[in-house]
Amino acid sequence: MAAISIPFNRPSLTGKELEYIAEALRAGHAAGDGPFAARCQALLEEMLGVPKVLLTTSCTHALELCALLLDLEPGDEVIMPSFTFVSTANAFALRDARPVFCDIRADTLNIDERIIESLVTARTRAIVVVHYAGVASEMREILRIADKHDLAVIEDNAHGLMGRYRGRPLGTFGRLATQSFHETKNIVCGEGGALLINDERLSERAEILREKGTNRSQFFRGEVDRYTWVDLGSSYAISDILAAFLLAQLEAAEGIQEKRRALWKRYEEGLRQWAEEEDVVLPTVPAHCDSSHHMFHVLMPDAAARGRAIAHLEERGVLGVFHYVPLHTSPRGLALGGSPGDCPVTEDVSERLLRLPFYNDLDEVRQQTVIDALASFHCASAAVSVD
Ligand SMILES: *Cc1c(COP(=O)(O)O)cnc(C)c1O
Repeated sequence: MAAISIPFNRPSLTGKELEYIAEALRAGHAAGDGPFAARCQALLEEMLGVPKVLLTTSCTHALELCALLLDLEPGDEVIMPSFTFVSTANAFALRDARPVFCDIRADTLNIDERIIESLVTARTRAIVVVHYAGVASEMREILRIADKHDLAVIEDNAHGLMGRYRGRPLGTFGRLATQSFHETKNIVCGEGGALLINDERLSERAEILREKGTNRSQFFRGEVDRYTWVDLGSSYAISDILAAFLLAQLEAAEGIQEKRRALWKRYEEGLRQWAEEEDVVLPTVPAHCDSSHHMFHVLMPDAAARGRAIAHLEERGVLGVFHYVPLHTSPRGLALGGSPGDCPVTEDVSERLLRLPFYNDLDEVRQQTVIDALASFHCASAAVSVD
């Protein structure tokens, strides 16, 4: 096996991170809700046009805040895709709400809005969408269904920062939306996230839940004369050292997105002909969606070809990876009542999807190595089946 020379992901710096981190340390405010966090929040509010943004320690924690803010009770149901990261489900399962897994569309790999309504029951409280790879879910139809049945919509927008749907930024459609700044995302600070609050009635309580259930923020604004325990809560505010890291990245967001757009285009152009010849499907971006270019993936014709393609890339020093083992057939998903066959598109796609190295500083020479490596792979080559 050749050594991997082109990793799948590598976080990159934009230039000002160390300067800002040093400034945060010198300012003597390393805890949550410091000056850098305030600047990040204001910048995100302005970039996206969101009334209120709160930085959090992760997207996972921002999702947990969503579940707390909705006052979910045991047995309440939350409809979500099975084809997602475990945190999308866990945040709600922690409140003993029941994730109800919905299949995905075969083109965008997003929750299939044509199925959602058949899953709505008297216990349904919310629909969680994930904009896979940064391409929007069909928000017009999803909001219509939510409105009709009085359900909250939450966008797990971990992939979608700066993507758009019909011209409007992702993260602005749900009552609440969440971002991730984990080192694998477009804009990073190691570990971090944000809660986007589009329904301002939830803002004050969100501050309280994020501050261990205290009204500490109101105290610092001089609205109350001491702070105390007023609600449920946990500790979800991010250290200002990480917020300093994040501010440098957010200020460079346009440049980062430009790099990722160029990477995505080069993959698409470099692989188009090979994909056509080999029955491989490249990502679908509907005309009314502007992608955030979070990743580049291909759908191989079958699971065996995907497995052989990963090995073929590895022999050439390239790390290609699969994505999302369906949640409904995971051990926990099965315990919650899921069974194979519930989400056939998810089960099929999960076995065939291959993601290619994709990071801000992937240079053209290395990217060409990836393209050449994949384009020299033949799906139908006479491999001996080992199944
Ligand atoms: C990365 C990711 C998360 C979790 O983000 P963290 O910031 O690591 O907690 C949640 N949902 C999706 C869809 C993700 O891709």
